[in-house]
Amino acid sequence: LIRFDHVTKRFGGNTVLDGLDFSVDAGKHVTLIGPSGSGKTTILRLLMTLLKPDEGTITVAGEQLFPASEKQVREVRKKIGMVFQQFNLFPNMKVLRNITEAPVTVLGLSKDEAEQRARDLLDLVGLADKCDAYPTQLSGGQQQRVAIARALAMRPQVLLLDEVTSALDPELVAGVLDVLRDIARTTDITMLCVTHEMNFARDISDQVLMFDSGHVIESGPPEKIFGDPEHDRTREFLGAVL
Ligand code: ATP
Repeated sequence: LIRFDHVTKRFGGNTVLDGLDFSVDAGKHVTLIGPSGSGKTTILRLLMTLLKPDEGTITVAGEQLFPASEKQVREVRKKIGMVFQQFNLFPNMKVLRNITEAPVTVLGLSKDEAEQRARDLLDLVGLADKCDAYPTQLSGGQQQRVAIARALAMRPQVLLLDEVTSALDPELVAGVLDVLRDIARTTDITMLCVTHEMNFARDISDQVLMFDSGHVIESGPPEKIFGDPEHDRTREFLGAVL
């Protein structure tokens, strides 16, 4: 479903991704781990077409992202939902409207359809009673669960998760990870996550990719990467974070 072929991305003289190759099959859950600055967020931003690669090709569901017409970019963006470290909810809209806005304006759903979908998703993330709250009236963990519901409301094929619990108070992290575990278990959505939560990565991943210096230095099922890593750099990284 997702494919990076020899993708290079530089910021000035800083080569962040260096001929990167990897792919993610439909329905799989892939986690990117690696030291800070290794380019994990850059990969997600390339997929969202927020950045352009300097070299190489990226395809999503058979569509090449660069070069692509505006129409192709819009189509690809519809297939991908993203949840960020900062929840980025619309502060002036109630929770329900935060979730219905894009399905109505981008997908053309009727208000009733979008609201029904939003209520089902709020139920899924355990916030059925918060439809009429404003984001500022919610805890960070609740806001992040709304952000997850908002991403899912577009029925994306792919969900990108960028360190979604990093900005949360520690006691709120588990609630958000539980929601994501549920989604991983009960839906067929493809997930690509950047996370520092290694237990979560171990639980949900079909495959873990260890990044360093712009390359995937090691990849495999979580049992292998966490239990018996091959690369010294992976062992060192896991030793520091586990
Ligand atoms: P972290 O875990 O800290 O979020 P990361 O692996 O996600 O790290 P990226 O955010 O992808 O890393 O950043 C990789 C490198 O690219 C860093 O050195 C960063 O400073 C640089 N970088 C990222 N975005 C830009 C930008 N827009 N302009 C210049 N440099 C950038």
